[in-house]
Amino acid sequence: MKYKKTALWIFLAAGSAGLVFIFGVMPGESVLPPQSEIAQPGPQQTAQEPESPAQEHGSPGAESLPEVPAPEMASAHFEMAEYRCDCAGLCDGWPARMNPALLDRIEVLRQYCGRPVIITSGVRCEGRNTEVGGVAWSFHKRGDAADLYCPGVAVGDLAQTAKELGMNVLPYYASGYIHVEV
Ligand SMILES: [Zn+2]
Ligand SMILES: [Zn+2]
Repeated sequence: MKYKKTALWIFLAAGSAGLVFIFGVMPGESVLPPQSEIAQPGPQQTAQEPESPAQEHGSPGAESLPEVPAPEMASAHFEMAEYRCDCAGLCDGWPARMNPALLDRIEVLRQYCGRPVIITSGVRCEGRNTEVGGVAWSFHKRGDAADLYCPGVAVGDLAQTAKELGMNVLPYYASGYIHVEV
């Protein structure tokens, strides 16, 4: 028993020496390198932190939202701008407002066709109406008429559909569009 007790003390002493060795050497040699390693990521992190907020300020679309204002819609599939007078500066584009009843029926026509309808002429000022050879009493000047076509739909079929939807129709077969008015 006494021999084993001595061996135990030796073992404990050796263990203590080992602990001293670990705590004595580790702090001196191995703590410094980690500090220098920590010191390097430190500046990199502080350098990255200003960058990511800067990217957040640039990317959230706070600046792009005002740049792309939602266009005024004439109806579900048409922007109001599609009906704007297309003269070259003779007017501000809106000598008259488009008749909402016409806009609604053109929208129904578009949905009936199930494909895009192209507006080639909406409202016209006096000068533009003269340029395109429109009649003096043209409904275009009041915003009560539009010229349009539907790629893939024959002029005759489009005219028939527009007529059934309650519009007065003037088909221009040679030019490939119809004039509709209310
Ligand atoms: Zn004009
Ligand atoms: Zn017309």
